[in-house]
Amino acid sequence: MSEKPIYVTQPQLPPLEDLIPYLEQIWENRVLTNRGPFHNQFEQALAEYLGLEHLSLFTNGTIALVTALQALRIRGEVITSPYSFVATAHSLLWNGIQPVFVDIDPKTMNLDPTKIEAAITPETTAILPVHCYGNPCDVDAIEEIADNYNLKVIYDGAHAFGVQCHCGSVLKHGDLSVLSFHATKVFNTFEGGAIVCPDAKTKQHIDRLKNFGFVGETTVVASGINGKMHEFSAALGLLQLEHIDAAIARRREIDAAYREQLAAVPGITCPTRAGQQVDNYAYFPILVGPEYPLERDAIYEKLKEHGIHGRRYFYPLISQFPMYRGLPSARPDNLPVATEVAEQVICLPIYPDLSAADVERITGLLRDYAQEPQRSEAS
Ligand SMILES: *Cc1c(COP(=O)(O)O)cnc(C)c1O
Repeated sequence: MSEKPIYVTQPQLPPLEDLIPYLEQIWENRVLTNRGPFHNQFEQALAEYLGLEHLSLFTNGTIALVTALQALRIRGEVITSPYSFVATAHSLLWNGIQPVFVDIDPKTMNLDPTKIEAAITPETTAILPVHCYGNPCDVDAIEEIADNYNLKVIYDGAHAFGVQCHCGSVLKHGDLSVLSFHATKVFNTFEGGAIVCPDAKTKQHIDRLKNFGFVGETTVVASGINGKMHEFSAALGLLQLEHIDAAIARRREIDAAYREQLAAVPGITCPTRAGQQVDNYAYFPILVGPEYPLERDAIYEKLKEHGIHGRRYFYPLISQFPMYRGLPSARPDNLPVATEVAEQVICLPIYPDLSAADVERITGLLRDYAQEPQRSEAS
């Protein structure tokens, strides 16, 4: 029996024929980018879907992060999580900002708010937390610290599309939040992203920054960048919005199936989602503890032999990459929780088209490996 490889995610796409009228419209308009009609339509429809007043579409999430930091003129040191995709910290380096890594909470994998204050120095200007796996950060605790120390907060919400916490969209928190619509994310426009803005004035500023700083044809008011979303991505985004609820509903079923089928496997923990009111089931991380006969990397390799490609999100920690590991805050003894989780985590495949049979095959393998002899104690 030859099986097609199963990757950690498979991008969701609308029926191709549904896209044709949008493409015909673009060909007819001859407006390809620069606030075209689909861009504006998608921007409005997306804000409505997410329950937000103001957002600005971007070409991708990383440029959106870089621009968000520019928009608030962040300098000096910024406190952030080592347990994220590398773009989170790279956006700081691109602004000449020094990242300061703070450890994570073992339940949510998000920045541990009780450890933030100790990392604040006179140079600290902002906090850049990540809603990891779509689990909302402890936004109230972070806001309180930010208020006390007069710090800005920019949330990396690349995993948090559509997530709602106790007070509606989690993306309303902080000074700005950033989304990614990369192909691997819950909601994709091939490449894409957005900055969630608190008011129209901030959005106007960010709209200018993403278009080189232009106001009108001949006036440039800021050293902006090219962060614009083009019409093809915007048209696709409009179409994707029609299918996103069904996609998330299917993800929820897969999440539930994994949890049920892995519940009794000793040594495997399925971290609970962080109690969001509306979840997006963006990832399905499991932690492989010492009671499990195989180490995480061995599971990763064995699953791969069966054509099942999990991903070690997030390993290595950002703080272990060469451009970060010399920082004092990057030392593993400053980040014991993140360091341990990064050694134990593997994200299992989750996407709307993943079949129930495939979920059973994956959990079946994990149950089989659990029967192997226990690891011999080191030393
Ligand atoms: C995907 C991702 C980004 C980057 O977004 P792109 O759209 O790929 O540039 C940033 N932060 C996190 C946490 C991500 O997962």
